Amino acid sequence: MEKYDILVVGGSTTGSWFARRMAEEGHKVLVIEKEKPDDVSRAYDIFHMTKKEMEQFGLEIPKEGDKEFGFFFDGSPMLSPFGNYPKKTVPNTIVGLHKHDYIMLMNDYAEKAGAKILYGAAFVDFIKEGNKIVGARYKTDEGEKDVYASLVADCTGIPAVARTKMPDSSTVENYKLTPEDIFYVVLYYAVYESEDVKPEELHASFLNYKAVWSAPSGNPHGAILGIGGNYSYAYSEEVFKDFRKNVPWPRYTVEKVEKGMTPYRRGIYSFVDDNFIALGDTACLTKPTCGEGCTSSLVQCTIAVKVIDELLKEGKELTKENMWCINKEYLRQQGIAFDSMRALLKGVVSTSYEEAEYMFKNDIIFSEKILGGGGEDLQISPADIAKIVSGMAIGVATGKIRPTTVKKIVKGLLQSGEITKLYEEYPETPAGYWDWKKKADELWEKVGPMSDICDPVILKRLGIK
Ligand SMILES: Cc1cc2nc3c(=O)[nH]c(=O)nc-3n(C[C@H](O)[C@H](O)[C@H](O)COP(=O)(O)OP(=O)(O)OC[C@H]3O[C@@H](n4cnc5c(N)ncnc54)[C@H](O)[C@@H]3O)c2cc1C
Repeated sequence: MEKYDILVVGGSTTGSWFARRMAEEGHKVLVIEKEKPDDVSRAYDIFHMTKKEMEQFGLEIPKEGDKEFGFFFDGSPMLSPFGNYPKKTVPNTIVGLHKHDYIMLMNDYAEKAGAKILYGAAFVDFIKEGNKIVGARYKTDEGEKDVYASLVADCTGIPAVARTKMPDSSTVENYKLTPEDIFYVVLYYAVYESEDVKPEELHASFLNYKAVWSAPSGNPHGAILGIGGNYSYAYSEEVFKDFRKNVPWPRYTVEKVEKGMTPYRRGIYSFVDDNFIALGDTACLTKPTCGEGCTSSLVQCTIAVKVIDELLKEGKELTKENMWCINKEYLRQQGIAFDSMRALLKGVVSTSYEEAEYMFKNDIIFSEKILGGGGEDLQISPADIAKIVSGMAIGVATGKIRPTTVKKIVKGLLQSGEITKLYEEYPETPAGYWDWKKKADELWEKVGPMSDICDPVILKRLGIK
């Protein structure tokens, strides 16, 4: 009988990094990844992480010329819906990487640390003794096999193949993501028709289309023009057409289009149950402003490695009681900021393009101070709040901002505060979980999904709603 300390299901950024770190701590780790090596992480080519985050998590930074290397760039401003009022962001070196090659590099490091990786091995179901998870069944071209482990870690991203098989009585929610909870990302690899265009001068993000951005593609005369939205790729592409109508842009041809999905929903309330943990996109830990999740999941993995390593070294069981502190610490380090930001964003992004343009112009919420740091280390003083309030009052009095918009922004602010307060009261042990979950469910029911702010005209045109 094959027995491991840790069985990682899914060998992409989250699973690979968690497997490597657990193996570095001396534990016996197996990764099962459903794709064959050539097919791992092929949905899209280029992804980014900041240099600072890569250093924080000990991720190797490839050199120019290495096959994993895409480019370095220094970040870009946030722009108003019609492109007139750029707000500079804090300079931050960003590393562009070829995803498939970089994941395979990460997997090489995991194997060097001692983890075993089985490619072409898809999770089928848990193996249980009574109610206790003791391993998993997986399928390869040769048939089905069983593997035993003290912990099964679901790192399979959106399909969450193991998490969604947890019983309703589990402290790990077993919901499946719906199109309302998913960000459908479309990437247009553009090449500018005129050699005079300087793509680096155009790189920017446009928050008010939910998210539209221009970023390097690796081609000196090109860029990746990206868009993310709820419900479907067709919805995202329609919003991109609005952007193209509103913002003048040099002529380009599209060389290739890539599409992919990322969760766009609050994180699950508890990652752990007895002998089980959900990590990364499986647990919906993507950044609220852009849907990126490669490094935000490593914040959670770092906490999980520390706790699980200590428990295994002390010979303790990997029960939900023993691993509960992972939930609490994650919320403290990142979860509260992310999930309270979701409610706030719903309010802020409900502005019409014209209202947002006015607010960018007058530094009302859309100021360099608030947008510039991407939400990190944001300190809003009473003077800032007074400026926002007076700016909005003038906007309403002059007909530039609708009173209904102010109401939505205030609602977002208040709900953001309520989420912070409730999450700070997260239970110390699983015993308090169900009462806390009831309150959290009621609050999120009031907040509603991010898809509420999709454009009703486009939704109707596409027959979605
Ligand atoms: C177009 C696009 C661009 C993005 N750009 C960025 C970016 O620049 N920076 C950033 O930080 N984030 C970015 N993201 C988000 C990022 O891709 C995810 O947050 C990240 O990949 C999550 O990693 P993960 O390992 O948790 O899940 P995934 O990357 O989804 O990996 C899950 C793994 O599990 C495997 N698997 C699935 N089912 C099974 C099964 N039954 N058995 C075994 N294995 C299975 C899959 O094959 C896969 O390898 C982008 C997303 C999209 C769609």
